[in-house]
Amino acid sequence: MGIYFYIFIFLIGLSAGSFFNVIIFRFNTRKGIVKGRSECLNCGSIIRWFDLIPILSYFILRGRCRECRKKISLLYPVVEISTAITLLLLFLNTPNVSHLTALSAFIILLLILVIFLDVRYFIIPDRILALSAIAAVGLKLLTDATDFSYLLISALGLTSFFAILYIISKGRWIGFGDIKLIFLIGFLLGYPMGYLSIVAAVWIATMFSIALLVTKRATIKTEIPFGAFLSATTIIFIIYDHELQEIAKYFQ
Ligand SMILES: [Zn+2]
Repeated sequence: MGIYFYIFIFLIGLSAGSFFNVIIFRFNTRKGIVKGRSECLNCGSIIRWFDLIPILSYFILRGRCRECRKKISLLYPVVEISTAITLLLLFLNTPNVSHLTALSAFIILLLILVIFLDVRYFIIPDRILALSAIAAVGLKLLTDATDFSYLLISALGLTSFFAILYIISKGRWIGFGDIKLIFLIGFLLGYPMGYLSIVAAVWIATMFSIALLVTKRATIKTEIPFGAFLSATTIIFIIYDHELQEIAKYFQ
């Protein structure tokens, strides 16, 4: 693939990130996602099209609203850049780009959205999980020699362990949204990769929590966006599938 293809992918990623910002900032507000022009969250002035260019506008405006000079959240460019880079990494790391890569890209985009919504609201919307599940089933149907019973058993095995934690803790250690996400990951990655992805997420989330506790930025009761960690490790497992399979062989 040539340089223009990757520039195109990067631009697609920026646009997707820009759309995610609309979803993230309008989530749980009365405004619809598709309807309505973008406006400043502070002064309500309509943001004109030339101030809506991903990344560029943020830096041209030096992170402030053109009208009221109120600071624009740094989350806007962060969402745009991280979405674009993640998508680019997937395509750079895929030797034979096909329609399957497009489906993987779609699933990764949804997982990125899960990360930001879980971090900000501690919610994993069912609609996003449903879309991801449809894309995952589509991906497996189009992949040669998919063993559906093996994938479902992997998903059920993983989910049952965390469902027990959910029941014991009455939903305090793990949310029901996380359980549904774990089922999706189990189906998507199978055993042992889905298992390793979730173990990695648990480890990273635990170290993150300990760091917060030690620096007194959190108490034992502080909620952790576990779904964000699950999504992040799964994205890494999808992008670096081949490399991680090689490493996993040493543990078999
Ligand atoms: Zn303003």
